[in-house]
Amino acid sequence: MMKERYPRLEFNLASLKHNVAHTVELCGSCGIQVAGVIKGATGDVEVARTFEQGGAAFIASSRLEQIEDARNAGIEKKMILIRIPMLSEVEDVIRLCDISLNSELEVLKALNEEACRQGKLHKVILMADLGDLREGFWDKDELADVAEYIENKMINIQLVGVGTNLGCYGSVLPTADKLQELVDIAENIEKRLGRELEYISGGATSSLMRIMDGNIPKRINLLRVGEGILVARDLEEFYGYDLSKFRHDVVRLKAEVIEVKNKPSHPVGEIGVDAFGHKMEYEDRGMRKRALLGVGKVDYGAPCDLIPLEKGIEVLGASSDHTIIDIEDAEKDWKVGDIMEFDVNYATLVYLSNCRNVQIAYV
Ligand SMILES: *Cc1c(COP(=O)(O)O)cnc(C)c1O
Repeated sequence: MMKERYPRLEFNLASLKHNVAHTVELCGSCGIQVAGVIKGATGDVEVARTFEQGGAAFIASSRLEQIEDARNAGIEKKMILIRIPMLSEVEDVIRLCDISLNSELEVLKALNEEACRQGKLHKVILMADLGDLREGFWDKDELADVAEYIENKMINIQLVGVGTNLGCYGSVLPTADKLQELVDIAENIEKRLGRELEYISGGATSSLMRIMDGNIPKRINLLRVGEGILVARDLEEFYGYDLSKFRHDVVRLKAEVIEVKNKPSHPVGEIGVDAFGHKMEYEDRGMRKRALLGVGKVDYGAPCDLIPLEKGIEVLGASSDHTIIDIEDAEKDWKVGDIMEFDVNYATLVYLSNCRNVQIAYV
């Protein structure tokens, strides 16, 4: 047994598998395959393995090293690179990935050459930007021209579909209309190529809302899902969808109490800036009982994103390596050495799983 160290990030793999299987079933009811996106857990291989066991059709990540780890761990599912490739990583994209998302002809040409060199056939999905303004062709004629170029001029690249990404930079929702736009783009390309495309990949977790509403365009047949499986919070928190069939205990942060004292709630002295150079506001609530945790912003990013699971505690703030908790109204009599537990959102999970001094454990 590994010695328990804190801070500690615990994955409940049974709950994770349940969420993968539930997502696969939900999508399957509409003829949609699931690419399980592992980047939210920094590509942790046990997480990736659980995505495979839960029935995800593909394993997907934005990062090549995570895909390489998954392969080295013996995961056999087809791998999709979901960040459009850098020219500098083309060799590894061909070596490690079955499919990549693309939007630059120059990169596609480099992929084709490299695939030829490695004796491989690499599959690509061309990305359409439908308004979220991150990756993808804005000019849809250019997209169709590139599709035709791949079809007619590239020997080692196979065009397998089109895709889009929404709700990341521009906060654009995957409405039925937006997704129909993608289907229209696909059908225009199909007309020009004279054949069907294998995949129309209509987004990420947020597109699950269309399945729940029963209005996802019929030809969408691939979604790339991370958040909805790993933490399953956003669609309920921001859009009021019922996520009761998902489990919400996949991820937990555990941190150790390193100091418990009564202190003033307002800083004492002349006020400048905090450790990160920010001007802060402090409410004066008199003397309060506070706990200090041995975990900080370096580990999880933003303290306001921590979700306390203990009754009557409040996250007051943090510096790099410390988190300050108000425990005046706590139910429990907190002592040094106690372990405090938090639920996390997707952003916090990415930071925690990516942090060297956070011990990852599986329950
Ligand atoms: C991160 C990412 C996803 C997964 O997004 P979730 O909201 O976590 O489901 C899907 N597609 C692309 C292109 C991504 O970058």
